Amino acid sequence: MPLLTELPINTYFDHIPVNEMTMPLGYNDVILLVSLLYSSIDIYYEWDSFSQCQRPIHQWLFASFALVVIFRLTHVLGMKTATLGSGDFLLDLRQKDTLPRLLVSFTWLIALPFFILWTLVGTKWLWVTIRETPSCVPTSTHKWFSIFWLALCYVWILIHTALFGVAWLLERRVRRAEVDLREIEDDDVISRWGQVSSLQTYRSLCGHGQKGLSPTEIAALPSFSCDAGMYEAGIGADTECPICLHDLKIGDSIRELDVCGHMFHRSCIDLWLLRSSACPLCKRSVKGSNGDRHAGCGASHVRGSNANLRVAEPDSSRRLGAMQLS
Ligand SMILES: [Zn+2]
Ligand SMILES: [Zn+2]
Repeated sequence: MPLLTELPINTYFDHIPVNEMTMPLGYNDVILLVSLLYSSIDIYYEWDSFSQCQRPIHQWLFASFALVVIFRLTHVLGMKTATLGSGDFLLDLRQKDTLPRLLVSFTWLIALPFFILWTLVGTKWLWVTIRETPSCVPTSTHKWFSIFWLALCYVWILIHTALFGVAWLLERRVRRAEVDLREIEDDDVISRWGQVSSLQTYRSLCGHGQKGLSPTEIAALPSFSCDAGMYEAGIGADTECPICLHDLKIGDSIRELDVCGHMFHRSCIDLWLLRSSACPLCKRSVKGSNGDRHAGCGASHVRGSNANLRVAEPDSSRRLGAMQLS
């Protein structure tokens, strides 16, 4: 039954390079923490000298250090508490549990904007200090360290602004996918697969909107309801839907792919086609194949299709098995 959701369709989203900053606490964090602690102690001992500066750059440095540490701690806590099965903590705006959801909101809505603002303030203060009271800093090393730290802050901002951009794009794609799924999701889909239009995370996209057909294209594909005449003619007698592995029964809404004649429950193949434009059995492309071959649901069409399915069936189970393993 869960074959459709288990098919390993690799997508761009599974291979998004995750920045080192998104990894759990590691040696880099220890080095960062020790460096910031050393610098803080040094500034503390040179406090009187810094106080002579036109702008309080020592206070800016302190606050900037603290913000970076708070951000890292927030992220590590977020990674530890992220909802099971969700995507990367910083990229997934759909955390289900309260704590990771609050941490994500804090990171993007408070921490990042405030850090950008604070870095701009620091840029101004450092510029004024170097221009008007350059001799206030204890040594030239302190001056160059302040400039170096400011540059690091801008790198940090660039990386995290890009990450937020990716997170926002992923969320937009998830919302679009949900709109498509809602167009497909009728009573038949719900009875067979449950409510599919509510995606848990961007990892649920699985190629949706990239390799698949649009709901309009899918709706244009021929479908018919399996009646007693068709059933006796062959459909359902010894065939099953290759996706859900349930028999095609009288009253089932069926869709046959023009390109190859393979038949499926409409609710099963429609969900598949949103993710892939290829027939799940023979891999032929369905896109643009909506011709006149099966304009009606006549007996000859049914017999022909059924024959195709019969030929494909023993092979198909192996193919789908192989797809699950690949
Ligand atoms: Zn099915
Ligand atoms: Zn096919």
